Amino acid sequence: MFKLALNAGHGRNTAGKRCLKSLDPNETREWVLNSRICRRIEEKLKVYSEIEVLRLDDVTGKEDIALKKRTEKANTFGADFYLSIHHNAGVNGGTGGGIIAIVYTKSSQKSLEWQKDLYDSVIKYTGLKGNRSEPLQKQNLHEVRESNMPCVLLECGFMDSSTDVPIILTDNFAEQVATACVEVIVAKAGLTKTPPVITTPTVTENKILDWQKAAIADGFAFSKYGADGKWGSECEAVAKQAICKKRDTYKYQNLTKIVQNAVGVTVDGKFGNNTKSAVIKFQKFVGLNADGVVGLNTWKKILGVK
Ligand SMILES: [Zn+2]
Repeated sequence: MFKLALNAGHGRNTAGKRCLKSLDPNETREWVLNSRICRRIEEKLKVYSEIEVLRLDDVTGKEDIALKKRTEKANTFGADFYLSIHHNAGVNGGTGGGIIAIVYTKSSQKSLEWQKDLYDSVIKYTGLKGNRSEPLQKQNLHEVRESNMPCVLLECGFMDSSTDVPIILTDNFAEQVATACVEVIVAKAGLTKTPPVITTPTVTENKILDWQKAAIADGFAFSKYGADGKWGSECEAVAKQAICKKRDTYKYQNLTKIVQNAVGVTVDGKFGNNTKSAVIKFQKFVGLNADGVVGLNTWKKILGVK
């Protein structure tokens, strides 16, 4: 599993971090622009099962989370890569600007590779090359310095440049930056769109019968119809209560075995991390909310009932 720490810089109301009023009467906030790109990156990565994305900022934008907290969150998460999205300022309403990619002054070789690949890709998609003499920079900034993994801070154009502002305000630009970043992440993390190998559920009465027997062994009752191998309201009622998820005590061992068999992991009746990840993959694959918890909807997919 590749772990991506993704940061939209600042918060909605951070002082000063906004487009220059003379160029953008709305004074669009930097966090809004940063977050729009991050959301698109997250959305595009959803089709890949081998990546986990953790946002480091407050996704509502209300709070400008301290930089120290953001890097600690990424380090605790054990991210493989840290991507921080920002927008720049410093040309005071003049022209020029463009994309800049920043790594730490004592950056690792890996960070340098990410930096170059991301910069090249974003330029390829956006064309916002600007006029900076050094678009690939090394700086002693908190995020790139305090993160334990390769880290790139991407400045996606200048919020006070008459050249950049009309471009960076568009949805199209956000889409291009996100596409460019995802292309690099997919390549470097080796992600594939191939769905996980799972046992595709088929509609057979036996599957339901097995499930009913497992539920009975785990303490549930089908008092009206018993284990009849047929799906009905009684099964629905049990399925709503027979919630299998990661827990300290292995409450429903027999039902967990049914889950494990369906999602293709070792069948031991213990709902641990492996089972949880496999359930998440399965849920993604069948288009359910991927929370790793087997409740009514997941049971129905596992058992192949409508
Ligand atoms: Zn910023």
